[in-house]
Amino acid sequence: MMKQKRPFHVMIIPTLGCPSKCSYCWSSEVGSPIMSIETIQDVVEWLKDFRDDPVTFTFHGGEPLLAGADFYRKALPMLSQELAHLSPNFALQTNLWKMTPELADVLAEHKIPIGSSLDGPQELNDRQRSHGYYEKTMAGYELAKEHGLQVQFICTFTSDSVQFKEEIFNYFLENGLTLKLHPALPSLRSDEPNRWALSPEVYGELLVYLLDKYLENMDRIEVRNINDYCRCVFTGRGTVCTFVDCMENTFAVGPDGSIYPCYRFVGMPEYVMGNVSDHPSREDLAGSAPGLRMRQFKEYVDRVCKGCKHIRYCRGGCPYNAIAPNNGEIKGVDPHCIAYRRIFDEISDRFNKEMMGSFGMGMGMGMPGPGSQPAEKSRPGIMSLMQRMIEK
Ligand code: SF4
Ligand code: SF4
Repeated sequence: MMKQKRPFHVMIIPTLGCPSKCSYCWSSEVGSPIMSIETIQDVVEWLKDFRDDPVTFTFHGGEPLLAGADFYRKALPMLSQELAHLSPNFALQTNLWKMTPELADVLAEHKIPIGSSLDGPQELNDRQRSHGYYEKTMAGYELAKEHGLQVQFICTFTSDSVQFKEEIFNYFLENGLTLKLHPALPSLRSDEPNRWALSPEVYGELLVYLLDKYLENMDRIEVRNINDYCRCVFTGRGTVCTFVDCMENTFAVGPDGSIYPCYRFVGMPEYVMGNVSDHPSREDLAGSAPGLRMRQFKEYVDRVCKGCKHIRYCRGGCPYNAIAPNNGEIKGVDPHCIAYRRIFDEISDRFNKEMMGSFGMGMGMGMPGPGSQPAEKSRPGIMSLMQRMIEK
C-alpha cells in the first residue's frame, strides 16, 4: 500500500529585527542578527533525509526582507533545487517596507506569494502600527504588483480597532482586498502585555459579525478565516495550523539555525529543540524538551476537550497561545477557545437550521403552504457560502 504523504511546514526566520515599531508587536527584537547563507545550506543538509513529504517554506520575521536580495538570490535556488524531492513551496510574510526592484525580481522569478499586514484605513492602521506605516507598505505593495507578485493582507484587530470593525470591513470590501484577520495577542515582551490584546469574548463576537457581513457581500469579498471555520465544520478537518495538531509537522529555524516548534517561539531559549547544523532527526526533535511539551499539550487536549463537539477539528487551538503566557506550564487550552466555540456553534447551528428549513420546504417545491407566514426576504446563508466554496 502506498504511504500517505503528510505535508510539513518549515518557517525560516532570517532575522527578528524589524524597521517598524508596531505598538502591539510581540515578535521583533532590536539588534537581532541576520541569517547567513551557510545556515540555509545547513537547512538543506538537515532536510535531505529528514522525511519524505512535501514541504512549504515560509520566510517570516521580524522582517525577512532585511536579509536582502543577495540572500534570496542564493537561498531560493538552493532550497528548491537541492530539496527538489520534497517538492518545496514557498511563501513570505513581510511589511513590504524594504521591497526593492531587485528583491521583487528575485521573488517574482520563484513566484513567491506574499502575505503582508494592513489593519484598515490609513489613520486606523497607523494609530496602532506606527506613524508612516501605511504609506511605506503601500509603496512596497505597488512595487510588488508592478513585478507581478501576488500580495494578500492580514488585518490585526486590537482591543482599540475592533470598535471600528465596520470601517475596517468596508475598507477591505471597497479596495477589492481579501480579508484575513488575526486577533492581537498579549505581547510577552511588553510591560503591558494585554494593552492591545483582543479578549476571546470580543473576538468571538467579531467573528460572528464578520460572518454576517461576509454572507451579505459574498459576491464582492472573501473572508478567509470564515472559509476556514466553515471548512472545519463541513469536512470535520482543520485546514489551518490552529485547527490541526501542528506539532511534529511545523518547525521554525531562527537566525542562528536554532530549531523551534513554530515561529512564535523563536528567540525564546527554552523552546530550542536543536540546531540545523546538527541535522537532528524527527525522533531527536520529538524527544527534546520543547518537543515533549508540545506532545503533552496534544494529550492534554485529548483529555480536557473530550466532551466538546468541535474537538476533531479544533484540537485545542494554538499551543503557543495556550502555553507561552504560562511560562511553559500546560494549564489550559488556547484562551481563544471561547471565540472558536462561539463561531463553530454559530456556523453549525445555522447550517442545521437551513438544512431543516430546506427539507421542510422540499415537498412544496419551495412554495409556502396555506396559512404560512410570508417568507422573509431571503438572504444568502451558510449553504450558499458552502456552495460557493465547493465551486471554487
Ligand atoms: S504554535 Fe500556533 S501558530 Fe504555531 S504552528 Fe502551532 S497553531 Fe500555528
Ligand atoms: S472549542 Fe474549546 S473546548 Fe472545543 S476543542 Fe476547541 S479549545 Fe477545546
